[in-house]
Amino acid sequence: MQEQEFLQELKEIDLLQQALAILEWDSQTGMPDSASDYRSEVTSYLYGQYFEKKVGPKISEAITYFEAHPKELSEVGAAAFQLVKEEYELNHAVPNALMTEYSRATSKAHSAWQNARENKDFSLFREALAENIRLTKALIPYWRKDEKTAYDVLLNQYEPNMTTEILDQVFAKVREGILDIRQTLLEKGTEPRVDFLSRKMTEAQQRKFIVKVIQELGYDMERGRLDNTIHPFATGINHRDVRLTTRWNEHDFSMGIFGVIHEAGHGMYEQNIDEKFEYTPAHEGASMGIHESQSLFNEIIVGSNRDFWQKQYPYFQECAEGTFDDITFDEFYKALKRTRASLIRIEADSLTYVLHIIIRYEIEKMIFNGDVTVDELPQIWNEKYEEYLGVHPENDLEGILQDVHWSGGSFGYFPSYALGYMYAAQLYHAMQKDLDVNAVLASDDYSAIKNWLTTHIHRYGASKKPNQLILEATGEPLNPTYLLDYLRTIYFDVYQINE
Ligand SMILES: [Zn+2]
Repeated sequence: MQEQEFLQELKEIDLLQQALAILEWDSQTGMPDSASDYRSEVTSYLYGQYFEKKVGPKISEAITYFEAHPKELSEVGAAAFQLVKEEYELNHAVPNALMTEYSRATSKAHSAWQNARENKDFSLFREALAENIRLTKALIPYWRKDEKTAYDVLLNQYEPNMTTEILDQVFAKVREGILDIRQTLLEKGTEPRVDFLSRKMTEAQQRKFIVKVIQELGYDMERGRLDNTIHPFATGINHRDVRLTTRWNEHDFSMGIFGVIHEAGHGMYEQNIDEKFEYTPAHEGASMGIHESQSLFNEIIVGSNRDFWQKQYPYFQECAEGTFDDITFDEFYKALKRTRASLIRIEADSLTYVLHIIIRYEIEKMIFNGDVTVDELPQIWNEKYEEYLGVHPENDLEGILQDVHWSGGSFGYFPSYALGYMYAAQLYHAMQKDLDVNAVLASDDYSAIKNWLTTHIHRYGASKKPNQLILEATGEPLNPTYLLDYLRTIYFDVYQINE
């Protein structure tokens, strides 16, 4: 087989994937509800074609051939081949009957989860969750390569080469560090004033502000767009068409503004992957964790930066047309970084968010590496919230039923969010060796920051593994110290603590 033939097959797979991505974007942003039956018909038809090709004879022939003739592959071909092989092996190991049973169970579990949410009652989800867990446990031996524990197998599907051994240490340190910062804020901190955050700012005013900001940060609007949706996401159709979505709340501008800045980080990543990888699986993010590191770099590192906001505040005030004219910059900035424990993960602030993830990680590890029963889960959940965040869910909707992930069988996914935080802070630390980041954010030209991220992360796409990218970009493996240092600096400033 010629490399050209292999790359042509990958291109056809990618073309189907692009069509599916457009259809998915459309159904989340503008499709009339009444069209959903027709839409699922065309989507499942195309998905069938796509999946058939992915596991089809051409790909299996390519795997056999290039395994024996790796030297015939170019740089791009070799990067693509590695990814194709990994996915092919994962798909092929599992008996068809088990896979069918699993996908039936997860779609059933999704409706059970929705029903349980409406009734705020975990017992209505219990059986379906138990079935998802049972089937995932049955799948693990087929997926397992050389991972030490069952849960490591799940982690690796989202973050290649990540282990519980690493995460146990890292999360223990982060948990202690955050609890310590929270304790100091509680004892010695001055709560910022936040009443004005709910002042009305129209969607048009918010949009005007944030669209200018994300373009300054490096999101290319000529190769993108921003639409409204219910559950925000970013989608890279191809590198000339990377779309963002958001939702707005006219009495909580921070939702839309930080939401867009977050999605723009995902978008900037996809817009800047090297063109040479186009039409191959290397033309994607390296992992969930690395993708989140880019969105969180925007949201948490840039979005928490005093110099950045000092520079932007006059324009923000202008866009708000007088609404915030009586609020000083200092009052405004501090309000943005107020921290308060919450029950709901997606409403959490940047200090407490990672604790929500650690709770889920610990529970998932108990499920797959321990012997906890499904009936015990709500109580364990509630006790951990009490212990780490000092809050207690009134019902299961505020507790264990809040996230969609387990209903879809996505166990091992949550740690990616926390990894994104830690990677973002570690990248920021490394970036400061080359750039005065605060000075750049105080200036009119942010391009040095985007260029640094493109040089060290974006351009490689999925051609390098997450741990390799982080090691090469920062000179060391994952190190949670930088996140703790960053959080301490930001929150001690906002809460006026001098230590
Ligand atoms: Zn994200």
